[in-house]
Amino acid sequence: YVKERGKNDFMIFNKQLEHQSLERRILESALRQAIKEEQFYLEYQPKMDMSTNEIIGMEALVRWEHPDLGIIPPLKFIPLAEETGLIIPLGEWILKESCFQAFAWQNNDFPPLRLSVNISVRQLEDPNFIDKVKSIVRETGIDAKNLEFEITESVLANVNSIAPILKEIQKIGISISVDDFGTGYSSLSYIKDLPIDTLKIDQSFIKDIHENRESKEIAKAIINLANSIGLNVIAEGVELKEHVDELKKNGSIHGQGYYYSRPLKVSAFEEFLKTAHEALLSVN
Ligand code: C2E
Ligand code: MG
Ligand code: MG
Ligand code: MG
Repeated sequence: YVKERGKNDFMIFNKQLEHQSLERRILESALRQAIKEEQFYLEYQPKMDMSTNEIIGMEALVRWEHPDLGIIPPLKFIPLAEETGLIIPLGEWILKESCFQAFAWQNNDFPPLRLSVNISVRQLEDPNFIDKVKSIVRETGIDAKNLEFEITESVLANVNSIAPILKEIQKIGISISVDDFGTGYSSLSYIKDLPIDTLKIDQSFIKDIHENRESKEIAKAIINLANSIGLNVIAEGVELKEHVDELKKNGSIHGQGYYYSRPLKVSAFEEFLKTAHEALLSVN
């Protein structure tokens, strides 16, 4: 009986594996096709100065619109793109597209905004990455000072291999922000050894900041750390008025989240900019 059951479990396990790898292979070939056919577009989520309510920049977030399957969320395809290396051509497209867009906005009477782009470790490891970034900056006309790369904290744990690349990025004039700060399980010493400009507090500490003492204290500690060593700090996942009130107790910081705006398509983002700009003019 035991033997029988073992065999059955194995078959079920095998079936699941088969199913998983089939799904994966289908998704992978769809992803290849998608890159060829440019089935992607970008949304932009405003970043705000929480004390003045001014918009200070935006994060580009990629969206995949498959002709049959509809919108596929990044959490479903970014990891696969990373595993297969497809993130390299995709990431290049994302950077170029968002820089062109940001440059257009820059020349459109809007106040200068900083563009944030998520960069995967696979891109940083690409020996051609720095050259690609330089030529995209040149080609799009974006001022590198208005460009920021978001890199997740876990990637920065590899200080020795990552330091030379970050220094090259800094030389171009591009800023570095530590994404999902507080979740990378790494020693903090990388902050002192790497050219970092901003800590982006992970949304897991923000979502219950108004009702959880630990989250409140962790967020406060991160803000104090950033202030005391001269880094900028931004909270991600700001959804509620309660989050804003709680965060503002720690002084002046930046914030991003549904409370201010969801990620927006180009035309909706332009509407947001106009409204924000007019609101500001009417106050002053
Ligand atoms: P991330 O960089 O940490 O981006 C923040 C995610 O939180 C985004 O999800 C955003 O839409 C979502 N978000 C923003 N405000 C709120 C809020 O108030 N509440 C909640 N619950 N969520 C909020 P999204 O767009 O689904 O992206 C998920 C992740 O996929 C990103 O996390 C990033 O790691 C990756 N990703 C997205 N776009 C790109 C890209 O262009 N390149 C790379 N390499 N990765 C990307
Ligand atoms: Mg990000
Ligand atoms: Mg994040
Ligand atoms: Mg995240």
